[in-house]
Amino acid sequence: MRRYSAFAIAREALRHHQGWERAWRAPEPKPGYDAVIIGAGGHGLATAYYLGKNHGVTNVAVIEKGWLGGGNTGRNTTIIRSNYLQDPSAAIYEKARSLYETLSQDLNYNVMFSPRGVMMLAQTHHEVRGYQRTAHANALQGVVTEYIGPERVKDLCPIIHIDGPRYPVLGALWQPRGGTARHDAVAWGYARACSAMGMDIIQQCEVLGVRSEGGSVVGVDTAKGFIGCKRLGIVVAGHSSVVAEMAGFRLPVESLALQALVSEPIKPCMDVVVMANTVHGYMSQSDKGEMVIGGGTDGFNNYTQRGSFHHIEETLRALIETFPMISRLKMLRQWGGIVDMTGDRSPLISKTPLGGCFINCGWGTGGFKAIPGSGWAMAELMAKGEPGPLAAAFGMERFREGRFIDESVAAGVAH
Ligand SMILES: Cc1cc2nc3c(=O)[nH]c(=O)nc-3n(C[C@H](O)[C@H](O)[C@H](O)COP(=O)(O)OP(=O)(O)OC[C@H]3O[C@@H](n4cnc5c(N)ncnc54)[C@H](O)[C@@H]3O)c2cc1C
Repeated sequence: MRRYSAFAIAREALRHHQGWERAWRAPEPKPGYDAVIIGAGGHGLATAYYLGKNHGVTNVAVIEKGWLGGGNTGRNTTIIRSNYLQDPSAAIYEKARSLYETLSQDLNYNVMFSPRGVMMLAQTHHEVRGYQRTAHANALQGVVTEYIGPERVKDLCPIIHIDGPRYPVLGALWQPRGGTARHDAVAWGYARACSAMGMDIIQQCEVLGVRSEGGSVVGVDTAKGFIGCKRLGIVVAGHSSVVAEMAGFRLPVESLALQALVSEPIKPCMDVVVMANTVHGYMSQSDKGEMVIGGGTDGFNNYTQRGSFHHIEETLRALIETFPMISRLKMLRQWGGIVDMTGDRSPLISKTPLGGCFINCGWGTGGFKAIPGSGWAMAELMAKGEPGPLAAAFGMERFREGRFIDESVAAGVAH
């Protein structure tokens, strides 16, 4: 694989861009692999990447039913932060955030990480107490956050109306090195790096069944035939329960649609990310100038990857109170993704009842930020057969043992 560089851009400019290679190969599946990962979203691709990079396992296939990054990874609003309450969550989200800082250099692919700062508004006294508690917890965990007052909020984000009639802004939890990254680029960068290590990314290849012998996985039946494997990673977000059923076990996970929308592009007016969780809305401005807006999940389980009109209305009605200027904007497009939600709003990175089969899911509305850390931890689990320190608390036995990792506040938007 040729490295991308300023020199390569200059060279290609001189020869009319005829020399660029395909970013990743499009191979046919081999009969078998040491490890197969189902799902070429960010988490699946990052798992493959760190299997190769950290553990030397490169005989790997990532199998995707659609196109890589076409699930939630390419549909999210790209907020990256690590201001969670519980120690295991802060550890894995901060690991992910810190890997994002140098991901472009690591992958030789510009993921456009923009640590512009994230603020979570406190608009009720309950939220004030909740975020002050999180700021204290973060100080003990070594995660840099700060509880700030309304004047500082206004200073950092002048378009906020802090004296809203129903929910005035009382303060915010501020993480100065939180931010955004380009979601497609994260998937594409990992895919290119995996392909360069000799791994096969097989798109348009739905997994239809999981085969086992003597209690251990031996492979998967797919739209392109049987593919054998010694280790299987299920990393399919909103379809986790469906694939887990193929492998013969049930998950404590629900699937729901989460929606987002973008406005027409406007001049730069907001250089931080703002989440307003009481009214269910969050907003940032993309490099193109569009306001990127997300809302809450649907109130019922479903598998629709579409937006709906009532959500546009609900989300904008809620946000206009805090950001009156968006009432003048035209909205350009909306979409939905299927998120996988656990009862304690924390993920599963876990062994399963089927030998050699591992699962990574339950990231719900907030897994984009976790991609590098999650891939790191899942790769360790798949390579060693046992979770390392990052994943140890996220086993699915916690639901049987009542050992929840409650992140209802930090998970952000109400759901
Ligand atoms: C509207 C919206 C906004 C969001 N905003 C944010 C945000 O701002 N910040 C944040 O951190 N997170 C956010 N999220 C959550 C985040 O997008 C997800 O947690 C994360 O992308 C999950 O990544 P993944 O790789 O696990 O899943 P996905 O990207 O969904 O990848 C799973 C892949 O598995 C494939 N698959 C499923 N079944 C099969 C099968 N049988 N065979 C083969 N392949 C299969 C799918 O096609 C899919 O490509 C948001 C989500 C949505 C929908």
